[in-house]
Amino acid sequence: MSDCIFCKMIDGVIKADIVLETDSVLAFRDINPWAPTHVLIIPKRHIPTMNDLGPDDTKLMGDLSLAARKVAEREGVSKNFRTAINCGRDGGQEVFHLHMHLLGWPS
Ligand code: AMP
Ligand code: ZN
Repeated sequence: MSDCIFCKMIDGVIKADIVLETDSVLAFRDINPWAPTHVLIIPKRHIPTMNDLGPDDTKLMGDLSLAARKVAEREGVSKNFRTAINCGRDGGQEVFHLHMHLLGWPS
C-alpha cells in the first residue's frame, strides 16, 4: 500500500528502529513509547485491521505472537509484558496496518 507508513518501513522508504525481522513479520520500536520496552510487530503483508484477517492467516498471527515473545526475551522483559492489538478508530487504532504492541517492563 503506497500511502501506508508501516508498508514504507517494510520497504525501507521510512527508517525504522528494527529489532527483529523474519520472512513474515517486522518488529520495530514505537516512536512514542508507553513503557520501557515498546515494540510494534507487524505482518509484512498489508492487512488493515483484525477484521481483515482470513482463515489462511492463522499461521501469520502465530508468527506475530512468537516474534513478540522473542523480542520480550531479547529485551529482558519476558517476565513482565503485555501485548495489545487495537482494532478500529474507537478501539484506539491510529495506523491502519495491523500491528501488535509489545509493552514490557524489566524485572
Ligand atoms: P495504534 O494506535 O494501535 O494504531 O498504534 C499506532 C502506533 O504507531 C502508536 O503507538 C504510534 O506511536 C506508532 N507510530 C506511528 N508512527 C510511527 C513511526 N514512524 N515509527 C514508529 N512508531 C510509530
Ligand atoms: Zn501497510
